[in-house]
Amino acid sequence: MKCRKCRETAVINMAQHKLALCREHYLEWFVQQTERAIHKYAMFPKQARLLAAVSGGKDSLALWDVLSKLGYAVDGLYIHLGIPDNSYSDESCRKAVQFAEQHGLNLTVVNLKEQYGSSVIELAGRSRRGQLRPCAACGLVKRYIMNRTGLDGGYDVLVTGHNLDDEAAVLLGNTLHWSKELLPRQSPVLVGMDGFIRKAKPICRFYERETAAYTLLEGIDYVDEECPYALGGTSYLYKDLLNRLEDEQPGSKLSFYQNFLNARAGGFFNVDAVDRPVEMKNCIHCGQPTFTETCAFCRLVYEEE
Ligand code: SF4
Ligand SMILES: [Zn+2]
Ligand SMILES: [Zn+2]
Repeated sequence: MKCRKCRETAVINMAQHKLALCREHYLEWFVQQTERAIHKYAMFPKQARLLAAVSGGKDSLALWDVLSKLGYAVDGLYIHLGIPDNSYSDESCRKAVQFAEQHGLNLTVVNLKEQYGSSVIELAGRSRRGQLRPCAACGLVKRYIMNRTGLDGGYDVLVTGHNLDDEAAVLLGNTLHWSKELLPRQSPVLVGMDGFIRKAKPICRFYERETAAYTLLEGIDYVDEECPYALGGTSYLYKDLLNRLEDEQPGSKLSFYQNFLNARAGGFFNVDAVDRPVEMKNCIHCGQPTFTETCAFCRLVYEEE
């Protein structure tokens, strides 16, 4: 197969775009498409200070790489969750640190165990109900630390490496439940409010195989293993279902997500009602916004012994 632009041998064929490209033109296309998404969804202006949440995996490192290539001022944040299986957290931390050093970028590492006394697995195990799954505790912890680090550091936007496979799986889950709250909220950009940093997902329209191809062709070294707790989760099931659909009907994942975004932009949901600021208090421990006296993070870390 030949590259559509230069007729050299293609390294990737994207059936959904009817597009085959060589290495050079694929890397160029990936960067251009990212910039196009940033503009299309009005994610952030060129002078914005960005904080990229990096996990050491391919998507977040590809994102960090592309944004710095595009000339954005983008620092990284790695959250060491203390996941012990196969030294998962240690290994992924090493990859994030190595990438930052090789590219001369700033990386903040927040080590949960060192800073807050417990790993995410320990926190899940001793939560009051004793039944908080590691992923539920992990989601809460990550959201809190990302928001707090972003605001404390004076960043304008927190960027995350969610890809199309992630977003389509979330959309499938939200649709299966016809979630009135979550469906209108799912967006490539979430506006910032008092106490909450603006969030954006610049690579949300790339298939996972496309971000994998980018990192491979760029020679980016990333942690290959999935987090052991990802296996068996509902997100895994939804991804598997969507992959089967994609095999039968190439492009269906992209059209599922893109048509949802178009419907959202066209007024299908009452987005204004969702984005309306709500009355919140400040957590008595940490000062972060919360509906209760103590925020969910502080309850998990300090109270639920
Ligand atoms: S799979 Fe679960 S525990 Fe692992 S990083 Fe993701 S949310 Fe955290
Ligand atoms: Zn080419
Ligand atoms: Zn708090």
